[in-house]
Amino acid sequence: MMGFNKDQKIIGIRVLKDNVIWVWKNDNSAVVVDPALSQPVIEYLKANNLDLEAILQTHHHSDHIGGTRELIKEWPNVKVIASVKEKNRIPFQNLSVSDGDKLRLLNKEVQVIEVIGHTISHIAFHLNSEVPVLFIGDTLFSAGCGRVFEGTYNQMYNSLKKIKSLPKNTLIYCAHEYTKSNLLWALDIEPENKNLKKKLIEVEKKISLEELTIPSLLKEEMKINLFLRADNLKRFSFLRANKDSWV
Ligand SMILES: [Zn+2]
Repeated sequence: MMGFNKDQKIIGIRVLKDNVIWVWKNDNSAVVVDPALSQPVIEYLKANNLDLEAILQTHHHSDHIGGTRELIKEWPNVKVIASVKEKNRIPFQNLSVSDGDKLRLLNKEVQVIEVIGHTISHIAFHLNSEVPVLFIGDTLFSAGCGRVFEGTYNQMYNSLKKIKSLPKNTLIYCAHEYTKSNLLWALDIEPENKNLKKKLIEVEKKISLEELTIPSLLKEEMKINLFLRADNLKRFSFLRANKDSWV
């Protein structure tokens, strides 16, 4: 299933249970974010006559890097961009980056932002354009945030603060379609929250039409994402622990 955003030319390829591989493209070339699998990406790029300029890796989990080796075989000159701290766990990277680095991809400026918590070296890519774009991997989801596997709650809380400081018209492209279950959890915490109720109706409609519920605007996440709205570490920690045990 694919979602299409006309202005940004970013499409989502849904794979595995709930992963979304983002393909950002112009007329000739493409940048792929976190390819869990290679085949659907190869098929899409070939069908649209697109060269693969770069692969962006937000972190090392297999459902984000699983397709990369096969894509390198098809496009041997592709830039594989990943955190310099992950040379062991993302060994095929050939352009290693750190927090604050600026790249030029598809003639646009892309800035690397380190967002530690889900892993100890997770990075995001912020694209400066008319509508700013953030490829955030597993750090933030619509109405949710990533599990804290390797970092600390404090690191994740600070990473969310970095996201909050971005322009509010930033479109957030996360790597999983978790929106509905995140909203159901959030409504358990705040049953009377009207913004959550309204968003759930919108999301259920999109799902019934087999559309993606992402990307979402940072401005909207500031209303419906309890993790972004947590204004201290204690509240964030309560929410994260609660969500971990929520079924
Ligand atoms: Zn992950």
